[in-house]
Amino acid sequence: MHSYPLYYEQPYQKTHTATIVDIIDGNLILDATICYPEGGGQSGDIGTISGVQLLNTTKDDDHTIHHHVKQQVFHIGQQVNIELDWQHRFHFMQMHTAQHVASGLLFTRFGIQTVSVHQGERILTIETDAASVDQEICFELEDLVNAVIRGNHPVHYEVHTRTSAQSLGLRRSIKVEGDGVRLVVVEDVDTVACGGLHVANTSEIELFHYSGQEKIRGHIRLIFTVGQMARQQIRKAQDAVTELGVLFSAPLEDLVEVAKASIAQAAQTKSELRRAQQAIASLQLSSLVAHAPLVASIPVVYWNVPQDIDMKDVAQAFPEHEDLLLFAAKMVDGRLLWLVGVQGKASTLFDFNTRKSTLLSAIEGKGGGKAPLFQGSAKADSAVFFSTCKDLMQ
Ligand SMILES: [Zn+2]
Repeated sequence: MHSYPLYYEQPYQKTHTATIVDIIDGNLILDATICYPEGGGQSGDIGTISGVQLLNTTKDDDHTIHHHVKQQVFHIGQQVNIELDWQHRFHFMQMHTAQHVASGLLFTRFGIQTVSVHQGERILTIETDAASVDQEICFELEDLVNAVIRGNHPVHYEVHTRTSAQSLGLRRSIKVEGDGVRLVVVEDVDTVACGGLHVANTSEIELFHYSGQEKIRGHIRLIFTVGQMARQQIRKAQDAVTELGVLFSAPLEDLVEVAKASIAQAAQTKSELRRAQQAIASLQLSSLVAHAPLVASIPVVYWNVPQDIDMKDVAQAFPEHEDLLLFAAKMVDGRLLWLVGVQGKASTLFDFNTRKSTLLSAIEGKGGGKAPLFQGSAKADSAVFFSTCKDLMQ
């Protein structure tokens, strides 16, 4: 079944009264519609149908247009009133037309082809066939598109036979089957075969803004904003720069350098802090070792590690001692982190590997390691861990 697509004849029509001819999987099929179905990089129309939210419009393999409504309160034969979310639709028409102009200029001025396009809610992206695109080219393109916008170029449609369309030497191959090829002509700028919706004059695009680029599949994807979204993007960027200027106490010209220096300073401070934390852990362990009871002349330390000392600093400080049996534990997020260190002659007091399973089951824990250091986590508290370790000493 085919639904009559009124949107080609009347792309500016915002409301329409239609009749429901079928309901498939809860989606309304209308005799004719002004709702553009998702496709060709353009999203489907949204709005309301007789007051019920229209969530999306899609087209199936049979070219039947499905209106996805939020609630199923309709019946076949019912007359309904379509109201488009015009802001949404118009923004897509602006982006789509801007994309034709930009892709056309990329090709004619810079020899860069368009591989694929996507129109999102906020941004328009053009995937190019180029492995790199200089920023100067992007800015020049932005200027050229904005000049086309100011140039009031009309946009019109022509229907050609396949042979006639092919003879025009279009920058993009014709993707549709059959002989009625719909060409979109941005006068004096670009002509391609396209089934999408466009504004009637380039002046309606309002504004075209280059917003950045990224690499995808070895190609550069250019990112743009158009119309109202372009204005919002520029203001958002301006706000961010102003706020950063205040935070870094720097004028615009120095902002990036000041920010870079500040980030480098923060990284240095962080590494100095790490070294200080390691030194504290090392000093605390040395003090504990100095006061520890000796078993067979080997110091045995039970250490309830305080919150401000990291377990990895404990592990790092441990090898500084020649002969040492260390049992360390620390609660982190309700779980016990444990550490057993068996250094030098301490191996005669505690053989971790033969005691491992008894220890882990007593503390409901897991973990392991390689001599001289064993680590893990457990459900039991430090008191259970320490008393079990004590019992397991030779
Ligand atoms: Zn188009």
